[in-house]
Amino acid sequence: MSTPFTAPTWPTGAPFGATLSFDFDAEEVWIGENPENASRPGVLSQGAYGPRVAIPLILDLLERTGVKATFYVPGKDALRHPEAVRAIVVAGHEVAHHGHSHTSPTLLTREEEEAELHQGLHTLRSLGAEVTGYRSPSWDFSAHTLDLLTEAGLTYSSNLLNDIRPYRHESHPLTEVPVSWILDDAPHFWFANDTWDKTIRSPREVWEVWQPEIDGIAALGGHVMTTFHPMISGRPSRLAFIERVITHLQAAGAWIGTAAEVAALAARGELTGTLPRAQAPGFLPASVLDDVRAASSAAAAGGEASAQAGPAPSGSASPSPAEAAPEDEATPSGEEGVWSLDPIQRLLGRA
Ligand SMILES: [Zn+2]
Repeated sequence: MSTPFTAPTWPTGAPFGATLSFDFDAEEVWIGENPENASRPGVLSQGAYGPRVAIPLILDLLERTGVKATFYVPGKDALRHPEAVRAIVVAGHEVAHHGHSHTSPTLLTREEEEAELHQGLHTLRSLGAEVTGYRSPSWDFSAHTLDLLTEAGLTYSSNLLNDIRPYRHESHPLTEVPVSWILDDAPHFWFANDTWDKTIRSPREVWEVWQPEIDGIAALGGHVMTTFHPMISGRPSRLAFIERVITHLQAAGAWIGTAAEVAALAARGELTGTLPRAQAPGFLPASVLDDVRAASSAAAAGGEASAQAGPAPSGSASPSPAEAAPEDEATPSGEEGVWSLDPIQRLLGRA
């Protein structure tokens, strides 16, 4: 039987990898959307919250938790807020390209896109950043993007949503470090008064979405790529959410590094592990299946069961994500954190 999923091998024998990324959009996201917003201080103030309040608090949080993160910064935002970008660089985090203006490359000619790429690079490098990666403002490419990134000497892209593992592009000497909407804060938390149809969700609701996704990627040995926006997740309640994500990843034994570090490992062939992780029918390791069954039974029996997976079976042969599984969930005081087991139960039906 072929292995249904081949996980990378992570440094230090960690069961899975993770990167915290921050798209530092600030005012430029509003101006890129509509140039007339440049003269609307109320609109722009939503983005200004990022460098004014969020970035210092996020840097403090990352220092306290010992995490190095990746910040994708539009060049024009860096010109507006050089002190914030310098603070990110000085703290040892990665700064990478996020357009010069916040304009999708799909809307630009090749010449315009090339000019954007070089203006952004020049700006970020003049502030001390070693830029090796690119995240498009729209998570999308034009027909020229990969050529231009290669010509500019960049080594990785973080734009596509087609995997939970970093991989090498076949057509270009670039590594892809994939992203996802599910682990992006914007679909969950974004609110702007141009529409009142989308309501604001609580950190608890979003955690119910994120935790099983993170745990699922961990069980598969993949790469957890979270995307935060300082103006969105730098609000106090969501800073606590970021911290919760970090402590959960750390408790689960994740290797946490910047996207540039992930890309460098992949480029050196160090993440192309052939570790067969599937130890049971279906794609989850046996110990995880046991945990899911136990949690499922407890939920059915008591109704009060938490999302906490029980301890791994003591007979497990080797360390697995489940054994490193998050113990921090024992303390989400007052939060039941119960998430639906239905999808995994359906998978169990395959077993
Ligand atoms: Zn952006």
